[in-house]
Amino acid sequence: MAGILFIISAPSGSGKSTIVNQLRSLVAGLEFSVSWTTRGPRGSEVDSREYHFTTREYFEEMVRNNEFLEYAEVFGNYYGTARSTLREAFAQGRDLLLDIDVQGAAQVREKCPEAVSIFLMPPSPEVLATRLRNRSRAEGAVQEEIIARRLARARLEIENYRDYGYILVNDVLDRAVEEMAAIVAAERIRRNGAAGTPDAERLLEIAEGCRTANSETRIRPVLEAFGVTETTADSMGAA
Ligand code: 5GP
Repeated sequence: MAGILFIISAPSGSGKSTIVNQLRSLVAGLEFSVSWTTRGPRGSEVDSREYHFTTREYFEEMVRNNEFLEYAEVFGNYYGTARSTLREAFAQGRDLLLDIDVQGAAQVREKCPEAVSIFLMPPSPEVLATRLRNRSRAEGAVQEEIIARRLARARLEIENYRDYGYILVNDVLDRAVEEMAAIVAAERIRRNGAAGTPDAERLLEIAEGCRTANSETRIRPVLEAFGVTETTADSMGAA
């Protein structure tokens, strides 16, 4: 049976990598897709662990050869998910998690409507700005114009939240990790059965609370803080 395809998108600096890393030790049978990118390695990143780092020329050749399930340009660099990554994960009977931006998520939803998509929101622009500054400081120097650009893009990405099946708010890390793990478990239960035990019911309940349709009250203050209104939400389409 084909595995489940999970997508997580979040504005840069939302703490997504931390959550995804913690999920690795919590959830068995979930493969983490390693994307291709034309950006250079950052900090302690290692080729083929965080990304397959490559040149623009090679990336464009892969595009011409139709090797990508999806790809997009983010902050001036290409990022893409190779079709072979899905094939290999599913052949091994594993589920696959794609950490991709809103443009890539839209492409995957189109091609794989059964994919489970999760949007991770930072709790506020202030918290996001602090995280972005801390990260830039750790990598060298803080450039305010880059921070401002990332904040503006975060707002545009958040406007797409309604396209996602689930929403997480990263205000308390452990809670976001628990909710993410519950969503994975709940989707497995929904597809493979095994509901009925108290544990399964608890996971299903946590995941249900994270459905976008059930999250309006929780995310309203976040949307307000980012200046996202009913009229601007979903106005972006593909970024
Ligand atoms: P970073 O350079 O900070 O690692 O990632 C920048 C953005 O690119 C993040 O929003 C991340 O989710 C997105 N991204 C990473 N890999 C892919 C990919 O394969 N496809 C798409 N569309 N976006 C990706």
